[in-house]
Amino acid sequence: MAERLLIKNGKLITTNTVLDGYSLLIEDGIVAEITPGDLKAGNCETIDASDLYVSPGFIDLHIHGGNGSDVMDATIDDLLTVTTFHAKGGTTGLLATTAADSLENILVAIDAVHHAQSKKGVGSEILGIHIEGPYFNFEKKGCHLAEAIRNPAPNEYLQLLDATDQIRLMTLAPEIEGADGLIQELSKRNIVPSCGHSNASYNQIARAVELGLKHSTHLYCAMSGVIKTGPKREGGIIESTLLLDDLTTEVIADGRHLPPELMKLAVKCKTTDRLAVVSDAMRGAGMPDGVYTFGSKNGTEAIVKGGVATMPDNTGYASSTIQMNDTIRVMRDMVGVRLEEAVKMASFVPARILGIDAQRGSLAVGKAADIVLFDEEICVHRTIVGGVTIPTS
Ligand SMILES: [Zn+2]
Repeated sequence: MAERLLIKNGKLITTNTVLDGYSLLIEDGIVAEITPGDLKAGNCETIDASDLYVSPGFIDLHIHGGNGSDVMDATIDDLLTVTTFHAKGGTTGLLATTAADSLENILVAIDAVHHAQSKKGVGSEILGIHIEGPYFNFEKKGCHLAEAIRNPAPNEYLQLLDATDQIRLMTLAPEIEGADGLIQELSKRNIVPSCGHSNASYNQIARAVELGLKHSTHLYCAMSGVIKTGPKREGGIIESTLLLDDLTTEVIADGRHLPPELMKLAVKCKTTDRLAVVSDAMRGAGMPDGVYTFGSKNGTEAIVKGGVATMPDNTGYASSTIQMNDTIRVMRDMVGVRLEEAVKMASFVPARILGIDAQRGSLAVGKAADIVLFDEEICVHRTIVGGVTIPTS
């Protein structure tokens, strides 16, 4: 007998509209039927979603931690702490994101991800790994460990890439020595090469796009803007990302990193088809005020106060402390994006960036039953991953 779950009377969010009073039937983890009005499903668990939105689950391309744990803690328990915490914010799928560190420490984290992926029904599904660093421009390292920043050398990065088939995205600085070969290698392996923590110029980005660069990590943050050399000006990564249609990008939509005008500019240039929202959350998300490390427990310290993580010298933010439902509220209320478009930026767009939009990222018959129910305030009432309700207590 198939395992079935019926959600009825909900406001169904599609990629371009909201449909009132729809029913959705889940069968064996897959969306089996979507119908206006009532749906006769026989004897099965039924959720009355009156007054609630029935939304595709959120997919977070960039997430380091939450509830006191970080991906770089590299244990199954820590990873499940992160996925459980973020499932409560409506995240059904995420990329476990590493921080700049030694090869050895990154490999241990990857191994822990493999083990955590086998635990189903606990939290958000780990859809793969985002390797953020260590191949950065030192000047744009942000809160990553200074001593870990280095240039990519094939004898190191091939070990990393050969260790797992779960890497989906890698953030690197395209202008540093060795980056060209790495971008080509990533493309060959169907891994999304992304520019970030970088001072690249427009010409360097345009060249990297020819080599396979596809994405730009946390737009506006830890990247070059207009570069002035003597009397001459050229575009940096910000302008390149806004201009080049070949590049998708993401914004940390916590309402702190970026003022509304910069997010509006991103929406205007990239449209909601090429712009994803991410949490870039760190271990201090969901925790009381205090001092928390970014990355591993030996990482750089960040001060979390009133829901904001900053570097101790106050030169920048150190990731965020939000969950994905917060990004929807920010995009709707601060940026003025329609609810369904904000949801698209948190679900369909990241799924397409990862090349998994045929299976995930929107509510359609035959797709994974990754669903979040939330109210007008974008407070999450239920998160369903692969047809299974994730416990919220
Ligand atoms: Zn970063």
